[in-house]
This record gives sequence, C-alpha cells and structure tokens, in this order.
Amino acid sequence: MDDQARPKPAAELKMRTNESDAAARRFLMVMGMAMIATVNAATTPERAEVEERYKWDLGKMYASGEQWEAHYRQIEGMVADFAGRQGKVGASAESLLSALQLRDQVNIQLEKLYAYAAMKRDEDMRVPSAQALYQRAQTLAVKWDEAASWFQPELLKISEDQLKTWLKEPKLAVYGHYFDDLLRSRAHILSPREEELLAMAGKATDASTDVFGLLSNTELKWRLVKDPEGREIEITPSTYTAAMQSKDRRFRQDAFLALHHSYLDVKNTLAATLAGAVQRDWFYAKARKYPSSLARALDAENLPEGVYHNLLKTIEAHQRLLHRYVALKKRALKLQEGVHFYDLYVSLVDVPERTYSFEEGRDLVLEGVKPFGPEYVGVYRQAFDSRWIDVFENKGKRSGAYNMGTYLSAPYVLMNYKGTFDHVSTLAHELGHAAQSWFAKENQPPVYSGYPMFTAEVASTAAEIVFKQSMLDRTQDPKERAYLINQMLEDMRGTVFRQTQFAEFDLAVHTLAEKGEPITAEGLMKLCREQYVRYYGPDFVIDPELEVECLRIPHYYRGYYVYRYADSYCAAAAIAHRILKKEPGVREQWLEFLKTGNSKYAIDMLKVAGVDMTTPKPIEDAMSLFERLLGELERLLP
Ligand SMILES: [Zn+2]
Repeated sequence: MDDQARPKPAAELKMRTNESDAAARRFLMVMGMAMIATVNAATTPERAEVEERYKWDLGKMYASGEQWEAHYRQIEGMVADFAGRQGKVGASAESLLSALQLRDQVNIQLEKLYAYAAMKRDEDMRVPSAQALYQRAQTLAVKWDEAASWFQPELLKISEDQLKTWLKEPKLAVYGHYFDDLLRSRAHILSPREEELLAMAGKATDASTDVFGLLSNTELKWRLVKDPEGREIEITPSTYTAAMQSKDRRFRQDAFLALHHSYLDVKNTLAATLAGAVQRDWFYAKARKYPSSLARALDAENLPEGVYHNLLKTIEAHQRLLHRYVALKKRALKLQEGVHFYDLYVSLVDVPERTYSFEEGRDLVLEGVKPFGPEYVGVYRQAFDSRWIDVFENKGKRSGAYNMGTYLSAPYVLMNYKGTFDHVSTLAHELGHAAQSWFAKENQPPVYSGYPMFTAEVASTAAEIVFKQSMLDRTQDPKERAYLINQMLEDMRGTVFRQTQFAEFDLAVHTLAEKGEPITAEGLMKLCREQYVRYYGPDFVIDPELEVECLRIPHYYRGYYVYRYADSYCAAAAIAHRILKKEPGVREQWLEFLKTGNSKYAIDMLKVAGVDMTTPKPIEDAMSLFERLLGELERLLP
C-alpha cells in the first residue's frame, strides 16, 4: 500500500550510503525487503511445470554452474588485486586510472554474479543450493566493500590541483562527474580520529531504530478481530493493509481500532524511539558540519533545499483538491457523518474485476507506451521477445515484482502475474525500470550505469501513468472509466498527498530536535491530528486513535526518505503530461534522460527531460492531472 514501496533492486544497488546505511549493507538491502515466498494456492504449479517461454532466460548470463564458479574465482582475484593497490593510487595518473578501471570492473562483474544468484534464489526459495549460491555472492559483496573501503579516503588525499591536471587526460576525463561528486564531500570529512569516533558511534546511534523494528515486527501485542466470515484474525501491519480494502465497514473499523490500539499501548516508547532516530540524524548532521539534518540528507544527492520546501508549499496550496476528493468519497459511499480513515481505501466503483491473459496484458502495455515513440517501445518488445520476464507464480517463488538490471546482462523482471488490471499496470511499471536500465547501460561507461536514487521511480512511474491514461482513452464505458480514474486518484492520494504529509511531519520532528525542544507522544500526536485537519478537510472525521499513526511509520526511521515518493511521482506526471500533449522534442528529451544514467546530478538529469524540480511547475502539472480526473469522477458517480 502507500507506505510501502515496491522493491526496486536496480535502484538500491546504486544507492549512496551514509552512516545509518552502512556500506556493507548495500548489497544486502537489495533483497532485504519483502523477502517472502508467495503464499501459494494448492493449484499453483511447480516451477518445472511452467512453460519455458514464460520464464526468464538466465542461461544467457551463465550457461552452467561451472561458469558461475569460474567467474566467482576470477572476481575474488580482482578483489585481491584491488586491495593490493592501497597506498599507491595517487602516485600517478596511470595508477589512478588503472585503479578506477579495476574498481568499475569489479563492480559490474560482481553485480552480474550477484544478480544471477539472487534471481536463481527467487525462482524457488525452497531450494537450498540456490540459497547457498546467493549467500556466497553476498559474502563476496561484503568482502569487496571491506577490501575497497580505503579507496575514497585515499582519493580525497590527492590534491585538487593535481587531480584537475590529471582529469584533463582523455581516459580520465570521463571520471569528471564522479570526482565532482566525491569532492563535494570533502567539506564534510573529518580528521581520522573523528571519523573513527563516528564509525564507533554507529551501533549505538542505530539502537532506537532497532528497537522500533523489534517492537513493531514482533513484540507488540496485536489484537484479534472477527473478519467478515466470522473468523478471528490478528491485526498486524500486514493484515491491516488488506482489511482497509474490505467492503465490510464493521470489519474495517474494528481492524483500524485494533491496530492503532496496539500502538497506543506503547506510544511513549514509540515517541522515544522516534526521538532517538531524529537525534541520530541531527548528531551526524552537526558532526559533519551541516546546518540541519535536511541539508545533510539532501546533500547526498546534491539536491537544493528548495526542492523540499517547494513540494510542501505547492501541495499545501492545492489541499482543497484533496478536500473535494474526500467530499466525493462521502457522497459516493453515502457516509452521512463523514469519511473516517478506515473508509479511505475502499473503491468508489464496484465493477466485476476483469482479468487479462499475459498475451492480452503484453499487447495492452505495448500499445499503452506508444506515445514514448518507437525506439522506447522497441525495448519493451525485446523484453517480451527475449524472455526478460519471469511471468507466473510457481511454488516457492518470491512474491511481488521487481526489475534487476545489471551492466552485463539484460534487465530482467520478476512478476507474479495473475491478470488483474493492477498486474498489467505493474508490468508497465517494471518494464519502465527495465527500459531505463537498458538505455543507461547501453549509453554510459560502467561508472555511470546506474541512476540517481531521486530519479529511480520517475521513469517507471511515467511509463505507468501514460499506460493508465491510454487504458482510459480506450474505453467510453462510464463504469469502467470511473473504475480506472478512481485507481489513478488513489495512486496520487497515496503517493503525492500522503507522502507529502509525511514529509512535512519529517521536517517538523527534525526541527524540534534541532531546536532542542522536547519530542513527546502528546506533542507528535497533536501534530498528526492537525495535519489531518488541514489535508483532508471538513468532511473527514478524525478518530482519536488516528493520532498515533505518526508513531508507526517505519520510513521516519530512514531520515528524510518519503519526499522522494511524492517528488518523483510529480516529476513523472509532468513528463507524462508533456508526452501526451506531444510537445515538440519531448520524445528525444525522454530518451536523452534515460540515457543519462548516473552521469549527472538528479536535478540536472530531470532538466534533460524538461522538468525543473526547483520550480512549482511539475507539482502543479501533477495537481492539474489530479483535478481533471477528479472533475470527471465527480460527474460519473451518482
Ligand atoms: Zn518502481
């Protein structure tokens, strides 16, 4: 749902790290989320029973187990070679170039080795040999992180003048942006002793995040409620998500109260753990000489602070649209007294769920992304024709959907396709990630083959929006249109409004810490209520229990994380808007954007696509999309 992201391994692989996301965890994170096998029905086939053409073709990566083993040993040798360079990198332009190139090679080779093992494991998570392969890849990745940890500090010891001269040489010139990005950090690097102290503090400063995780995953007392069939079920964060979509209002209300009462039991503890996480962010910001935690968080991707405030201000100026949407929910669901939180997720339109065979889904997706132009559609076509996609569920397969793009292989996509509209949209979305990986790797040297975290969801979301719009354009049936529009509005409520509300809260609680003001359950819950009043308007009824919501959001422990969801959705909507309006040159700009990889900062990269996130314009574009859809839904619903 809206406070959970879809796993996005390709992006996580390239993610920049900081103290609370230790470098060694980089690879582990890739598969760390939602690592569960699909809960299979009895009719789910074994993998061997699924037709070959519906399985990804990993044989193109390694033809045999021996090949993987040989590659493993080769990479081990390269890692050892690299470790031996310590202390010698800055000796000459040649030694620098050779170290950088070796590092690039280890990165892309290891990425391939690792991705293959991860995908093999996900095919059937019950297979011990695949688990073992994956663990070995993981161990090698950690070893690589350790073996290379000296590298950046050593680069930073080379004088800037010396570097400037060297970077003029053609073979080193390509690393210009890499060094620009690295040298920005110089102002925030401390003396060796201070760095050592910060590293030592890591475990202690992460403690409150660990406590929150333990509490909310295992030790909280969850309550039982009766589901619509009269069976008792335990309401945990995961059963809660499904319950909120139930058509049975009594059940939704019970589930809502049950979950929030479980958190209310420990509200003071939760406020203390959140305060701990926020104090940690402020500690590292101060230690690294940033004026605020926000400045430090945005500096990781060289984002101007205006980007953050711009989002909050522009959404605030459009809150009346969300009020109107809530008023429509009240009318459509016939809720005299008003809309409660537990009414927000119910579909306003009852249509029998249609299903699409995979071939139908494929044709719809190929048709739907046509506005991006033939070169782009060609990559989607290749994905279907060259078996990049693992389509159906099988016993033991990992749940969900993801794209795994590497420099030395096709960008593969894992699906658990069941033919709902949601699954067809997910296919369009994941292929959007795949296409970006493809264009980046085909056009960039290894060092820039990823993409900035801030832009990671832009390409995929733009593809998804254009796809949904094309589905909408295909139907004149009022009920079907209403159904699709309702879905798109919910995407935007959950991703733009809700995440901006969270982003505002993030800023408020960090500001309390920075001003040295107390962070208490009472204060935070009051803030939460006040936000709901402003965001959801007069037709929304705030149950007192809702106030504790702010204490149960795991993303607040990741230090300014959620704004990315809202911002990238707006950037994607702005691009989709330009594509659908067929603005001159827009297709060329789109391809240029996809080909940029990591060779520019996020903000500059989005400018390539014609979107300037330092201005309100993209957010206003997203809001006008919302308004147009809302207007139509108001007319369509009785
Ligand atoms: Zn995604």
